[in-house]
Amino acid sequence: MLSAGIHHITAIAGDPQQNLSFYSEVLGLRLVKRTVNFDDPGSYHFYFGDGIGSPGTIMTFFPWPGARRGVRGSGQVTAVAFAVPRDSIPFWKHRLWENQVNAEEIAGRFGGNALRFIDPDGLLLELIESSVIPSEAEGSHSQPFRATSSGSLDDARDHGVMGDGIRGFAAPTLAIGRPERTENLLTEILGFEFVVEEQNRRRFRGSAGNVVSDIDVVSSRGDFGKVAVGTVHHIAFRAADDDEQLRLREQLVTRGLNVTPVIDRQYFHSIYFREPNGILFEIATDGPGFLIDESADQLGEALKLPPIYESNRAEIERTLPVIHLHHSTA
Ligand code: ZN
Repeated sequence: MLSAGIHHITAIAGDPQQNLSFYSEVLGLRLVKRTVNFDDPGSYHFYFGDGIGSPGTIMTFFPWPGARRGVRGSGQVTAVAFAVPRDSIPFWKHRLWENQVNAEEIAGRFGGNALRFIDPDGLLLELIESSVIPSEAEGSHSQPFRATSSGSLDDARDHGVMGDGIRGFAAPTLAIGRPERTENLLTEILGFEFVVEEQNRRRFRGSAGNVVSDIDVVSSRGDFGKVAVGTVHHIAFRAADDDEQLRLREQLVTRGLNVTPVIDRQYFHSIYFREPNGILFEIATDGPGFLIDESADQLGEALKLPPIYESNRAEIERTLPVIHLHHSTA
């Protein structure tokens, strides 16, 4: 069976310290890998996620200090949505307010409560109470956040989010001008199914094991966005293994899409292509994962470089901005 779902979402940030502090200390995610952009080793690549960075929980950033802001618009993932447990919105409203983040309540999108706000670089984020996550009192053994090492819980505890914490993605929004071909790609190749629609928003769902991923496709006649600071760079979908990835690649090529060869990203293997409305899509394998070069309790602590850059470590470390991993605890 195809493992359909979101693997990770990558966005562009400005200042790396501000990005790190916001996602770890305010949102309570764990920094699971600190490395460089493999295509531009003079800049960081941060991976945040659950305890071990399980596929489906990974939010990543390329921090480009001093770069210009992007423009949110058509042909982009215009909102990154994280799933939070039922009844946790009051907790998050308070927490964001405490951290001087203005959050707006979005009532009733497909019946779920949600908050919408922007990160320090202008990236639009949503926290959505997910019907597939039981509230804390009911417990859960099926969510990646809990099923993994204690790292995420320890980290969340440090930052005071505990049981209200983010459990991976909810339904990110893809804004596109002509939804049909993108929707066909999602359902015919990437293994998603249409589930429900409301006004101009159509929801698609994929599952891999017991991890469910939703995606909202919104038809947008607005201007095209410009990818830079504060916008999503790409969204990655899951492939269970290299064989599944190659099968998917064949199908994409057959459809006339221009797909890259398989690229080794150290923690997964990737292919990239522009979907018909211009959003950069990636398909990433579940393995080998973030534990190949660090133990679960040390994830994110050290700057990790792929073997090709190890010989340049001293120079790379001199070039990268200095950051502090734990500069305050709530
Ligand atoms: Zn990626």
